[in-house]
Amino acid sequence: MTYVLPVPTPPSLPVSGGDTLFPVRRVFCVGRNYGDHAREMGADPTREPPFFFLKPADAVFAPQQPAASGDARPAVPYPPQTADLHHEVELVVALGQGGTAIDPADALDAVWGYGVGVDLTRRDLQSEAKNLRRPWDLAKGFDFSGPCSPLRPVGDGKHPDRGRIWLSVDGSMRQDGDLADQIWTVPEIIAHLSRSVILRPGDLIFTGTPAGVGALSRGSTVTAGIDGIAELSFTIE
Ligand code: MN
Repeated sequence: MTYVLPVPTPPSLPVSGGDTLFPVRRVFCVGRNYGDHAREMGADPTREPPFFFLKPADAVFAPQQPAASGDARPAVPYPPQTADLHHEVELVVALGQGGTAIDPADALDAVWGYGVGVDLTRRDLQSEAKNLRRPWDLAKGFDFSGPCSPLRPVGDGKHPDRGRIWLSVDGSMRQDGDLADQIWTVPEIIAHLSRSVILRPGDLIFTGTPAGVGALSRGSTVTAGIDGIAELSFTIE
């Protein structure tokens, strides 16, 4: 059998410090995983079970690195159908192994590496969807909605469970949190998610954002990072 259309190259993210690629299979995102962000969104940050939504695999991409000599940042397009595009900086977990009903004690064995990503959100569409009890899909899963750093392999066996996670816009700090403040830890998130779906190598998990989400405009320069993991910078065009 042959395909009736050209088979697209799988979505991928670069691996830091090399010329290899991580193939992206599916992209899961955790909602409200830091108490201070849950409160700013009007939710109760008590420890209700984590909930998940998805982005299309090809929404995740690594903005091209700027030319070494110039100031120009790689561009991320301002999406259509919104007047309230928000940033959410998040630890991104890349899975190298899959499974179902994974025990939290074994869950970190499934992690291939980590990155820092931004869960770009059309907040006005999300608010409308919430009000009308409709799905969030197009508020969260639009084209270019998941800019992400190159992925850093676990390699040395260290998994980050604390450390600064931050995002600045045009040089002013908007989000400044710590991974230690996650309501659900990475192994707990993997364990929960694997009870709902069969996880596979190549799956990504965006693990939620600390407080300070806010609007971006055309021309905004976003810089984000997680200490010891990665940094990411781009301009909205
Ligand atoms: Mn998010």
